[in-house]
Amino acid sequence: MVIDLTELEQEPRTFGETIEVSAADLADPVVAGSVAVRLEGSVRRVDGGFHVEGRIEARGAVRCARCTAQVPWEAAERFGYELRPASEAPLDEELELEDDELEVAFLADPVLDLGELAVQQVLLALPMKPLCDERCAGLCAGCGADLTAGERCTCGAKAIDPRWAPLLALKNDPDRS
Ligand SMILES: [Zn+2]
Ligand SMILES: [Zn+2]
Repeated sequence: MVIDLTELEQEPRTFGETIEVSAADLADPVVAGSVAVRLEGSVRRVDGGFHVEGRIEARGAVRCARCTAQVPWEAAERFGYELRPASEAPLDEELELEDDELEVAFLADPVLDLGELAVQQVLLALPMKPLCDERCAGLCAGCGADLTAGERCTCGAKAIDPRWAPLLALKNDPDRS
């Protein structure tokens, strides 16, 4: 849904949407599929622009950074920032806003696209390096066996510290045994 901000009256305009954000829209390798989003909030006129605030709840699946297993993921975050016309965007760094607390987004058109808002907020909420388990041993670099799931490595490379790899190669060399 898109809210036309030029039609905004003095009172805040509230919104509540359930949006399915596709993995393609998120374009983040951490994401394992579409994310179900509940977006609630309001937008109101303020001096020089608009203020948006609300809450997002997201539910989906991410991939373990070590073994790529799918891990269920949920997040609930609050957001709030100001919207100003793109014509007011600072042209050089000296004009940049000094107050880091106040987040400002600049709009090319006077509309609030709730689908875009959902994508932005999901990207902000996603973990950088999700793990299926803190002790995840990952996959064998040689044969891809899932060592955490108890799969037996069939190549002998083992998921060992790479510094030991040359020693292991010696041990496995039939000419030397
Ligand atoms: Zn894992
Ligand atoms: Zn292996």
